[in-house]
Parts: sequence; structure tokens; C-alpha cells
Amino acid sequence: MPYNFKNANLAVRESRLGSITGFTGDLQTLVYRSECGSLKNRERCFSQSSSCLSGCALNALAAIRNVAVVYHAPAGCTAMASNDAVKFGQIAARVNKTTNSVFVCTDLNENDTVFGAIDSLRKIVQHTWDEYHPDAIFISTSCVSGVIGEDVDGLADELKDEYPVPVIPVHCEGFKSRIWASGFDISDHAVLQGIVKPPKQKRRYINIKNFYESARPQITKIFNEVFDAEPQFLYCNSTVEELSHLSENLATVCICGTLGTYLGNALEETYGVPYVRTLNHSGITGFETWLRAIGDTIGKRAEAEAYIEKQRAIFIPQIEEVTKSLHGLRAVIGMGPGFTYEIARVLQEFGMKVDYALAWHYDYKYDNGQVPPALEHLVKTSPKDMKVAVADQQNYEVLNILNRYKPDVYFSRHPGTTVWAIKQGYAAVFVDDEYTVFGYEGTLSFAKLIRDTVTNRSFEKNLAARIQLPYTKWWYEQNYDKFIKEEGVK
Ligand code: SF4
Repeated sequence: MPYNFKNANLAVRESRLGSITGFTGDLQTLVYRSECGSLKNRERCFSQSSSCLSGCALNALAAIRNVAVVYHAPAGCTAMASNDAVKFGQIAARVNKTTNSVFVCTDLNENDTVFGAIDSLRKIVQHTWDEYHPDAIFISTSCVSGVIGEDVDGLADELKDEYPVPVIPVHCEGFKSRIWASGFDISDHAVLQGIVKPPKQKRRYINIKNFYESARPQITKIFNEVFDAEPQFLYCNSTVEELSHLSENLATVCICGTLGTYLGNALEETYGVPYVRTLNHSGITGFETWLRAIGDTIGKRAEAEAYIEKQRAIFIPQIEEVTKSLHGLRAVIGMGPGFTYEIARVLQEFGMKVDYALAWHYDYKYDNGQVPPALEHLVKTSPKDMKVAVADQQNYEVLNILNRYKPDVYFSRHPGTTVWAIKQGYAAVFVDDEYTVFGYEGTLSFAKLIRDTVTNRSFEKNLAARIQLPYTKWWYEQNYDKFIKEEGVK
């Protein structure tokens, strides 16, 4: 796919990747229809709220150190700003750094929607520069500034000669995609458009796209000792200067294909930086496949094998011992698609059965036109009829499924669904941190976490006994499939 960094607008996942938010069926059908191109979205006749793509896009940009994000939006759209300020400050402090990134909102009101507010935006950008002297300024649209047609691209173009730093327009109209992961691509596009420079020399760095880098020490050690390279974590704690060199690095890896597809494929196609497309780091198979794929890409396969052999001797017996108690447990998973299929594989490694795997959306191909590797792997290791759904984080569907399958444990990466499962009386594991199952050590501690969660169930039992949920017996008796319209085949 050609990447056009001259245009600030980027096609959303629905049109670029054919991504969907509605499907129910089995895993084989999902993969078969993805491969033959016959997968079609199924619409809901009722939908609960979901998330806005601007959260994903602007969070990622605000995570870069010492930048300004000026959001041309009503104040409510910027609700995440205070959380970001605390979170990114703490993440910087973990590596003995500080960040002075700021999130500024233009607070659009009714008058502005009638008369426009491009002059206010210009003044606020000036004020932001005067106060903070950021290393880059991102100016973002929202639903409101998009609908009234504010010329943010024109303003950014005008201002780029006034300030000695990049001024980059970002198109975050929330209404343009139901898939919040479109926001990941929008932030990558902004970085590629305004910050990354063409390569001058090769550097022994590996780009690693993640969220909150909790495994920074372990990854740095592995990359240093096994691959003789430094990690370039993206975007927390990165600087504008570091980002300008992304095109010079050895390779790009990612914690999940959903997060990395745009940046990885764009760097590969535009600047020849190889994108390591493989399983993620979770579980034994995932971690070893991930290490080998990086090793193959940068000519360090033998070193990766030596590391794997040493670590296996330490951890595999311990993992096997703990997972004996997990054999036969039944699970339901509800996560973003990047992790649903990765965690399903890990649970199968533990001898557990995945009764139902829900993904909040589904990219049936990535930006290289291929089916996600985690899914291709899973279809080979799973029962033919393993149930899957694409559910757009619809809690009423999740609770219906939990009630029907009554699993031993529910896994989610979003607190909103975890807490509802617990209120319903099911043991639940909140896999919030993207590195919860990182490598052998993470796999061992994850197995112990599941064992401990299913062993003592008094918390969810007591909570469920004291809570009246809004769902009626009638709803639990429904097959939620019938609330999703259209057949899945074109
Ligand atoms: S940009 Fe649109 S969808 Fe996103 S928070 Fe603002 S109004 Fe809501």
C-alpha cells in the first residue's frame, strides 16, 4: 500500500483494512472468510457506547516527551488530559526522566460552531509555544472542528515557518471510525508525516511499539545481550530527536499487530526498515517465535537460540509444574484483537479450553494485506468449532455469553468488562499490562495468577450475592446472535 505523508488525513481501518466490529461464528469460518475476502461486517440493532479514536491517537502523541497536543475540541473531548499528565510523568520518572508534554484544549462552544474559531486556535498555539517551548506541536481536529470544517491543515502549514519545531496537523474526528485502534494509526501517521526523517546512516536500535513499557528493563537486557542492539521504545519516554531517526533503525517490533501495523509497514515500505511480523511475546511459543523472528531479521538467530536454550532449562519445569493445576479449566476471553488471539494461545499452552474468544474489533488483514499471524497460528492449534465473536466492547453481549458458557475464569484487558464479570459471579483476570505474560518469567507468574484466581472465589461469590444487575432473565435466555443483523457472507 502506498503511504502518503503529504496528506494529514489517513483512511480509517474500516476502509483501509476492511476491519469489522460485528461477527459471531467459529474461528475456522472467521479465518477462512478473511483469507478468501468474503468477510462482511454485521450491524447491531442496539449498541452500547464505545471509545473514541482520539483517545488512542492523542494519548500516544502526548506520551512523547516535551511536546504539545493542542486539541481543537469542546472541553469534554479532552477528559483524558489530566490522567495523561500524571501517567506519563510517572512513566518518565521510572527511567529518571521528566516530561513537560502538555495537552491543551480550545474549548469550542456553540458560538464557535457557528462562527468558527480558527483565530482562537492560532492564539492558543501561540500561547502554548510562549509558555512551554515544546519540541513539536500537534494540532488535532475533533468531531466538532471536523464538522464545521476548520482548516487545521492550512493553519499548521502557515505556522510551520513561525516556530523552529514541527507543527503537525492530526485528524481525530471521532465519528469517522467505530474502531478506536484507528487512532493508533493516526498518531503513527502524524509522527511519520512531521517528525521521521529519511535515513542517513544505520543505527543499532530496534523500534519497539508498545503502550507503557513496564518490561523496559527486561527488553533492554535481552536486546543488549542477545541482539547487540538498543531498544527504541515508542512512544512513552521517546523524544522528537529520537523519533526523527526511526528510519535508520535495524527493525521494528511490536507488542501486538493491532498496535504496530501502520508504523511497522510504513517504515518498511517507505524506508526499508524490516517489520517483524510474528506472534507476540506472550507465552512460551509466542516468546520463542518472537525472539527467533527478531534474530532472523537482524542476523542474530544463533544468539537467540542460545538464549532460549538457557532460559528453557530454568523456567520450563516450573511452568509445567504450576500449569498442571490449570488443565481442563474453561475460559472466556474479551480483549482487543491484538491480545485475544495471543492470550487464547497461551491458555491452550496451559491445557485450558477457550470456550469463547471475543475481540473488540477485527482487522482481517494488516497493512501488508495478510491475515494476523496470531490468528493463523491459533486456527492450527484450536478445536474446529471454537467460538469467536467481534463485539465492539458490548458488555450486554459479554454478560450473555458468560451466563451461557459459565467459564471457570474470564480474561479481559479493559476494567469495564472485568468488573461486570466479577459482579456476575465469575472469577476474572484483568490483563491490563501488555507485558503481563512477557517471556518465560511472565508466563510463569501468569499461570500462578490464574491458579490463585480460580482457587479462592469468595470475592466474586460474595459480591455477586449482594448485587442486582440490570440484566433480566429474559435477556440471559436470548441468543444474542439474533441482535446482530445480516449474514456474514457477501
Ligand atoms: S472527538 Fe467526537 S467522539 Fe471523540 S470525544 Fe470528542 S465528540 Fe466524542
